[in-house]
Amino acid sequence: MASSISVVVRVRPFSIREAAQLSRPDDAPTFFGDGSLAAQPKPTLTGKGMRRVVKVIDENMLVFDPAEENPMARYQKTILPQGKRVKDMRFGFDRVFDETCTQQDVYEATTRTLLDSVLDGFNATVFAYGATGCGKTHTISGNPKNPGIIFLTCAELFERIDALQDEKDINLTLSYLEIYNETIRDLLVPGGSKLGLQLREDNNSNISVAGLSTHQPKTVEQVMDMIVMGNANRTQSPTDANATSSRSHAVLQINVIQKPRTAGIKEDHMASTLSIIDLAGSERASVTKNRGDRLLEGANINRSLLALGNCINSLCDPAKRNHIPYRDSKLTRLLKFSLGGNCKTVMIVCVSPSSAHYDETHNTLKYANRAKNI
Ligand code: ADP
Ligand code: MG
Repeated sequence: MASSISVVVRVRPFSIREAAQLSRPDDAPTFFGDGSLAAQPKPTLTGKGMRRVVKVIDENMLVFDPAEENPMARYQKTILPQGKRVKDMRFGFDRVFDETCTQQDVYEATTRTLLDSVLDGFNATVFAYGATGCGKTHTISGNPKNPGIIFLTCAELFERIDALQDEKDINLTLSYLEIYNETIRDLLVPGGSKLGLQLREDNNSNISVAGLSTHQPKTVEQVMDMIVMGNANRTQSPTDANATSSRSHAVLQINVIQKPRTAGIKEDHMASTLSIIDLAGSERASVTKNRGDRLLEGANINRSLLALGNCINSLCDPAKRNHIPYRDSKLTRLLKFSLGGNCKTVMIVCVSPSSAHYDETHNTLKYANRAKNI
């Protein structure tokens, strides 16, 4: 069966700082303070000459660097009367979310559609991809006031499991780990663990992480507490680009094990995993002027992201489909049985609307555009 990946783009609102740098106030109809879209006074413009570079056309299309917003394009148009001018860069995706979309909107159009498949026994994977500061953690984790995909997913899974409980015995467990510099660490050990964990693969097509803790939350509040704690345990390293930039991949795995109530003890149970992944920032090492350690980290992060991109590209190419390079990184080894085959994958690509992040956004959209051809 063909693998299926869908690629969606979420454009976050302008931050107060980005909004203040705009040359035209109308470019920033919405912006955030603490992760909410509550109406706030418009910032005072400082006239730093920034502009909107992502324009959402409709639910499936966006334009990068729209010509009408680009002063160079306007200039070229006047000096080149032969009709030669900067072309709009149009990108089509399975779905495009503009800055007014809510956490619920994003959840419903991405992860909710995977739950049927997970409850039918198939693995599924959701990624948030994009440069630091573009909304990955907001989308995946959110905060208690504005919870993200993990929380909304667990709330619905708990409800569905409850509704099925006369027919089946369903057991839900969670684990949460990070991959930082190709080292796997448990995020749910109180106070954080320094220990690097090893990947194991058994004969039954199972990948496990030796020594990783598993947890059995009963309520969504418990899930939120775990995620808040896990995120606090993530490795943060300050770089020039962003003081709280995260260079680690955070991987939440929700394991669902089902047994029919009528089954005998020996009867086979059905297991599936939903992986929800907050990827490390996709910005390149060169952009953040990294040196030494930071450069090494950058290289490793690129290796995992590169390996992920290569696996996704191979999955979409019939000629390469029987050799997918899962072994190239920890992230892709961990996800070996959660990508391709019967697994459904959703890539949520996060971008800023501001020209302050022009190159990052352009690179992100190009990566996303390659991934969608599957
Ligand atoms: P990343 O994880 O990609 O580095 P974050 O999710 O931490 O980025 O987002 C950076 C900041 O922007 C945070 O303060 C976050 O709350 C805010 N933010 C991101 N996306 C949105 C959004 N869609 N709506 C409101 N605030 C957002
Ligand atoms: Mg983050």
